[in-house]
Amino acid sequence: MADTGTNFIHNMIDKDLEEGRYEGLPVCTRFPPEPNGYLHIGHAKAICLNFTTAQKYGGKCNLRYDDTNPVKEDVEYVGSIEGDVRWLGFQWDGLYFASDYFDQMYECAVELIRRGKAYVCEYSAEEIKNTRGTLTEPGKASPWRDRSVEENLRLFEEMKDGKYADGEKVLRAKIDMASPNINMRDPVIYRIAHASHHNTGDKWCIYPMYDYAHPLEDAIEKVTHSICTLEFEDHRPLYDWVLQALDWPMPPRQIEFARLNLTNTVMSKRYLKALVEDGSVEGWDDPRMPTIAGIRRRGYTPEAVRDFCERIGVAKANSTVDVSLLEHCVREDLKTRVESRMVILDPLKVVITNYPEDAAEEVEIENNKENPELGSRKVPFSRELYVEREDFMEIPEKKYFRLFPGNEVRFKGAYFITCNEVVKDEEGNITELRCTYDPETRSGGSFEGRKVKGTIHWVDAGTAVPLTVRVYSYLFTEGEDGRYALNPDSEKLCRALGEASLAEVSPGERFQFFRQGYYIADEKLCTAEEKVFNQIVDLKSSWKK
Ligand code: ATP
Ligand code: MG
Repeated sequence: MADTGTNFIHNMIDKDLEEGRYEGLPVCTRFPPEPNGYLHIGHAKAICLNFTTAQKYGGKCNLRYDDTNPVKEDVEYVGSIEGDVRWLGFQWDGLYFASDYFDQMYECAVELIRRGKAYVCEYSAEEIKNTRGTLTEPGKASPWRDRSVEENLRLFEEMKDGKYADGEKVLRAKIDMASPNINMRDPVIYRIAHASHHNTGDKWCIYPMYDYAHPLEDAIEKVTHSICTLEFEDHRPLYDWVLQALDWPMPPRQIEFARLNLTNTVMSKRYLKALVEDGSVEGWDDPRMPTIAGIRRRGYTPEAVRDFCERIGVAKANSTVDVSLLEHCVREDLKTRVESRMVILDPLKVVITNYPEDAAEEVEIENNKENPELGSRKVPFSRELYVEREDFMEIPEKKYFRLFPGNEVRFKGAYFITCNEVVKDEEGNITELRCTYDPETRSGGSFEGRKVKGTIHWVDAGTAVPLTVRVYSYLFTEGEDGRYALNPDSEKLCRALGEASLAEVSPGERFQFFRQGYYIADEKLCTAEEKVFNQIVDLKSSWKK
């Protein structure tokens, strides 16, 4: 694996190591997804960062399901998350569920009460909000703030035993109602929720809040560096408070970095889930989706995604990365890896009138111009062929070097061909081009006469393989208000024709379609009978350094 270089996070870790803050402990990070949806490309950023940081220090990285919220989680997502992390090329050290720590979290809350650092409050969520104060005014103390330890212990136990309804009581940390940081104004750390949990069933009817649970999860696993996104920066004092209040030895350090935002991409599990549920996309793994399952099916490679995550680096300020950089990384990775094939997306028939009726031959074409190691293949050529409709113009515009009446072009790997006649149907649609070839000009031969300015691709009509090709544009486009909206034209289906060798493809195989772009045989839909390809990325890069 490539060296990840250094960044401000590594600098902080270096300093901790120098100062011996974690004497005897290996550097330990974690990726802590909430199992409430499929992972997206933003999560890939966090996965790469956590795993490569652990690798750099010869440490550990855990995969931990942050499943402390009983109502939103689903086991379907658990399997998908593990598959996605493995697909990216990483293997976790420990695999944990935060809900396995509910007993310890409860014990810690009892300990906070004993230490006079937590109390049971009767306020509703609304009242807590209304007494929290503002950025300029301190909050008001709860009338229950100074209950005795004994009373708090009894009430908290009763909360656990199911004596109260949802919302009737909460456990709050006793910190500082005048703190300039509103997160520190006696935050709620336990709430009542009579809800079944996918892991613990009906054992609990009180559940810990994220800001209380997360530092404990990290600390229990002996995580040393808890890397999270910037919106948790204001929560760090609370993270530290929880562990300090319990005198936790060698508490983990929370470090924040900027979350990844991409142009033309919406990265919110909730929003993506809505698209799946209302049928706007085929599923979580629709090739247009920014989910890891989607980009995998789209044909992106884990190498390209990791390269992308490395190139964007880690920042301390939020910004939006141009999605064309990700596409650039995909092209760079596929460029020398995949073989080329000729495919016609919108076929127009060509008849070579001076080519013998019953003759046929094979021409040899290199599989990858930039990588001779990939060898070559034989492609059938005969009197009837197809070309791309776009490669012909009856009245050529300026600098058009492809087919037009009277013009000669090279058919890739074969001959010079001249277009002589255009055949049309009754409505005036072009149905066929009648052309001639020059037998002297066969590719790879010794012809050194005139030159032509254009080379186009073609397929042999007799042996062509029908393909369904899905050509994509962005799933989201920017509306006038600057917000992203679903693009109604993000998928175009082409009834295409491919060269004979494409009869043999297996699902998941990638190719460059000559002059068109990179394509993958769809994992799910490509069968022996029906060949379905997804466009991975087009050939041209719009990304500028
Ligand atoms: P979403 O809002 O899409 O549901 P989330 O942050 O709620 O995302 P979690 O499952 O809680 O998703 O996230 C797991 C980890 O991935 C967290 O550490 C989170 O900070 C990180 N993460 C999520 N989105 C991004 C992103 N866009 N860029 C970088 N890291 C991210
Ligand atoms: Mg979340």
